[in-house]
Amino acid sequence: MPKFVYDFTEGNKDLKDLLGGKGANLAEMTNLGLPVPPGFTITAEACRHYLEHGSVPEGLQAETDEHLAALEKQMGKRLGQPDDPLLVSVRSGAKFSMPGMMETVLNIGLNDESVHGLAAQAGDERFAWDSYRRLIQMFGKTVLDIDGDLFEEAIDDAKATKGTDSDLDLDTADFKKLVQVYKDIVREQAGRDFPADPREQMDLAVRAVFESWNAPRAILYRRQERIPADVGTAVNICSMVFGNLGMDSGTGVAFTRDPASGQQGIYGDYLQNAQGEDVVAGIRNTVPLTELERIDKASYDQLLGIMETLENHYRDLCDIEFTIERGRLWMLQTRVGKRTAAAAFCIATQLVDQGLITIDEAVRRVTGHQLAQLMFPRFDDSADKEQIAKGMNASPGAAVGQAVFSSERATELAAAGEKAILVRRETTPDDLAGMVAAQGVLTSRGGKTSHAAVVARGMGKTCVCGAEELDVDVKNRVFTAPGGVTVREGDVISIDGTSGAIYLGEVPVMDSPVVQYFEGRLAVADGDELVRAVDRIMAHADERRRMAVRANADNPEDAGRARRFGAQGIGLCRTEHMFLGDRRRLVEQLILADTDEERATALGGLAPLQRADFVGIFTAMDGLPVTVRLIDPPLHEFLPDLTELSVKVALAGDAADPADRRLLEAVHRLHEQNPMLGLRGVRLGLVIPGLFAMQVRAIAEAAAERRAAGGDPRPEIMIPLVGAVQELEAIREEAAGVLAEVAEATGVDVPALIGTMIELPRAALTAGQIAEAAEFFSFGTNDLTQTTWGFSRDDVEASFFSRYLELGVFGVSPFETLDRDGVGRLVRIAVDEGRRTRPDIKLGICGEHGGDPDSVHFCHEVGLDYVSCSPFRIPVARLEAGRATI
Ligand code: ADP
Ligand code: MG
Ligand code: MG
Repeated sequence: MPKFVYDFTEGNKDLKDLLGGKGANLAEMTNLGLPVPPGFTITAEACRHYLEHGSVPEGLQAETDEHLAALEKQMGKRLGQPDDPLLVSVRSGAKFSMPGMMETVLNIGLNDESVHGLAAQAGDERFAWDSYRRLIQMFGKTVLDIDGDLFEEAIDDAKATKGTDSDLDLDTADFKKLVQVYKDIVREQAGRDFPADPREQMDLAVRAVFESWNAPRAILYRRQERIPADVGTAVNICSMVFGNLGMDSGTGVAFTRDPASGQQGIYGDYLQNAQGEDVVAGIRNTVPLTELERIDKASYDQLLGIMETLENHYRDLCDIEFTIERGRLWMLQTRVGKRTAAAAFCIATQLVDQGLITIDEAVRRVTGHQLAQLMFPRFDDSADKEQIAKGMNASPGAAVGQAVFSSERATELAAAGEKAILVRRETTPDDLAGMVAAQGVLTSRGGKTSHAAVVARGMGKTCVCGAEELDVDVKNRVFTAPGGVTVREGDVISIDGTSGAIYLGEVPVMDSPVVQYFEGRLAVADGDELVRAVDRIMAHADERRRMAVRANADNPEDAGRARRFGAQGIGLCRTEHMFLGDRRRLVEQLILADTDEERATALGGLAPLQRADFVGIFTAMDGLPVTVRLIDPPLHEFLPDLTELSVKVALAGDAADPADRRLLEAVHRLHEQNPMLGLRGVRLGLVIPGLFAMQVRAIAEAAAERRAAGGDPRPEIMIPLVGAVQELEAIREEAAGVLAEVAEATGVDVPALIGTMIELPRAALTAGQIAEAAEFFSFGTNDLTQTTWGFSRDDVEASFFSRYLELGVFGVSPFETLDRDGVGRLVRIAVDEGRRTRPDIKLGICGEHGGDPDSVHFCHEVGLDYVSCSPFRIPVARLEAGRATI
C-alpha cells in the first residue's frame, strides 16, 4: 500500500507530484532549519483516489491518526484539547500553483469549550473568539458550501452597529455574538450544527479540500493555465500560529525580488493583528513590508536573512507567506514565484551574473510565451493622453476597453467581440471568468501580491492594482477619480500595466522596445536591462538550436521584417494573394477560357505580375531559401459570390450581360459542398492546363533575373495537397520541363528544389513513395490536423471546441498545439519513411504550429530541419528551438 501521509520532515521540494508545491516546499523549508510550524501532508494520490471512488483510500485514516498523534506529542497538546487546544490549518496545495483557487480552513480544533482554553492560554479573550468565528466562517463556506456573503454581511452588520468600518474595533462581546450568529447561519443553510468535534472538523475539511479540486473556478483556472485536470491536490495539516494576537503580531506576503521588474529589493505587504487571507483579500489596507523594520526590527532582519537563504537555495525568485506571533516569525509558505515576462528575462540573466545559474539554465527558465508577451505593443509615449490616476504596475501591457464592473459584463462584452477593462475594488477568485475575458484589470485596493495582481501576472494580463485615488462603486457601475472625473460602465479607458497609469479614452499604442530591438531599430547598447537580457538569451538560444527558423511570408515587406527577426529563409510563400485585386479579372478569364488561346492569353497576363512578385521576395531573402507554394485554394474563391451574381443576373432578366451569364454558369460549375476537400492544390494543377506551369515559369524567370543582376536566389517549389506520388510526378515532370526551358532561354540555370507539402494522412502514410519525387517535405499541419481529425477548422472551433476542452477530449485546441498522439504520429511516420527513401530529404513544418512553443519542441524531437512561422513568431520559435536542445 502506498504511503499517503508525510511529515514535513519527511518530504522535500522535489516531491511536488506527491505533496503538491506547498507541501513539498514546507518540507524543504523545515529541512533547511527555517521556522515552520510542524505538520504533515496528505498526498495528492489520496486525493485522486477520493475523487475517483468518492471515498478516502483504505489506510489513510490510520496513517492520519498516527501522524496526528505524533504532532500532538511534539506540540504537547491534543487537537482541540479543552484547556489548551492544538489548532491546525487544513490547506490545499497542488503540484501547480493555483493561487486562491482551492480552499484553506484555519483554526480547526476550536469549539465552545476549547475557545476558553485558547483564551486562557493566550491571555486574550477577544483573540480566541475572533479565531472561533473565523473557523465557523471558513468552515461554513468551504466545507458546508454556504454562501460566504452571508457571513460577510453579518460581520458588516456588527461593524455598522458599532459605528466602525474596521474589524479592529470589534471586541470580545461582538465576536461572541458573531459566533452565535454564524452558528445560526450554519444551521439554517446547511441543515446541521457546526461540528464541535475537532477530529470531525479536520476530516471534513480534508475532504472539502479534495473536492475543491473540482470547483468550477479551479477547473476554469486549470484550463486557462493548461494544468492537467487529473493531478489532484495534496492537503497540508499545519499547526496554527497566530498573527491576530495583537499589534505585535501580524501576517504578510513577500517576494525576494520585484516580480514586475526583477529588481532586487524588499517587496511585500504586511498587516498587523491579522490572520491568513486578510492580507490578500484587501480587508484592511496593508503596509509595505519595509515598514516592518520600524514595527519589529528583529523579525524584519530575520525575515530578510531567510529570504536570502531561500533565493540562494532555490536559485530563483521566491514568494513567501509568513506570520509573526508576538514577535516570533513563522514561515508558512514559499515557492518559486510567478513573475512578469520582463522580470523572467531580467532575473534569469541576473542569476547568471550572480553565478547562481548557467546561461543554459537561464535559457531554460524563460519561455517563448513570455517572449511573445514582451512583443506586445505599448502606449505611445508621444500621444496626447489624459491621465486620471495612477495605481501600482502589477502586470505589464497596454490595455484599452470599456470600463465594466462585473465579471458577467466583461464576459458578455468579450462574447460580443468587444474589449473591456474589469474595474473592481479588489478581485476574488469568483472574478476569474471576467479577468480572462477582459483586456485588463483595474483595482482600487490591494498591492502587488493581491489576488488581482497575482492572477493577472500568471495569465499575462495587463493589471493596475491598488489605485487608491479611485472611488469604485461597483453597485452603481461607476468610478470617480480625483478632479471630479467620473467613469461609467461603457466609457473607454486605457490602463498601462507597466507604469500603473490610468487614462481616460483610447490611447494609441506603439511597438515595444523588444520589437524595436529585434527589428534593428534599437541598439542593444541603447536598450534597457530587459533588452540586454533578451539579447543575451536569444544569442545563446541561437547558438544552441539545431533547427533553422524560417518565415511564412508572401510579400517583400513581411520577408524583410522576418529576416530582421532572424528568419533563415521562407518556409511558406503563399501565392494566392497574387490572384486577388485587379488580377481577379485575369483569373476569371482563365476560368472562362474555352480555347487554348484564351487560356494562354489569361495566363500570359498573370505571368509578368507573378514574376515581379517573386523578384521582390527573392531580393528580400537574397542568399536564403524561399519555398513557394503553388496555388492552393479552390478557384471559385476568386470568383464573385454565387448568390450575389445570381441576383444580379436574375434582376437584369433578358438584359443581363452575356459575360455575367457565362460567369454565373462557371460559378455554378465550380461550386462545391465541401471546398476544403474539393478541387484545390495539386488537383488544380492537374485539371487546369498551364496554371502551375505559368507559376513555375514566373519563379524561374524571376530567379534568373535576380541571378543576372548579381543576386543569389534560392527557390524551392512546393506542390500542395498531394496524396499520391503519381500526382506529384505529373506536376514534377511539367515543372522540370519549364525550368529547363527557362534556363535555356535565359542562359541562366538557377537550381530549384521541387518538393511537396505533407498535409493529407495518405501522403504521410505513403511518404516513402512520395519521397521518390520530392526533394523536400513541408508538413502543412493545419490541413493535416483538419484531415486527420476530420475537423473543418472554420466550423468546429466556435461550435463545439469549448465543450471538448471541458470534457478533456484535448487539453488545448489541436490547431494551436500539435496533437502529438495523432497528427504527430503521422508526422513521425512521414519523417521516417521519407528519410528511408531519400536520406538527404529536407524536412520542415509550415503550419501555424511552427510558432507554437510546444509544437516547436515536438519538431525538434522528430528531427525536422526547420520550422516556419509568421514573422512575429520568429523570435519565439528561435528561443524555443534553442530551449528544446537544453
Ligand atoms: P493559498 O494556497 O490560497 O495561499 P494557504 O494554505 O497558503 O492558501 O493559506 C492562506 C493563508 O492562511 C496563509 O497565507 C497563512 O497566512 C494562513 N495560514 C495557513 N496555515 C496557517 C497556520 N498553520 N498558521 C497560521 N496561518 C496560517
Ligand atoms: Mg498561501
Ligand atoms: Mg494546406
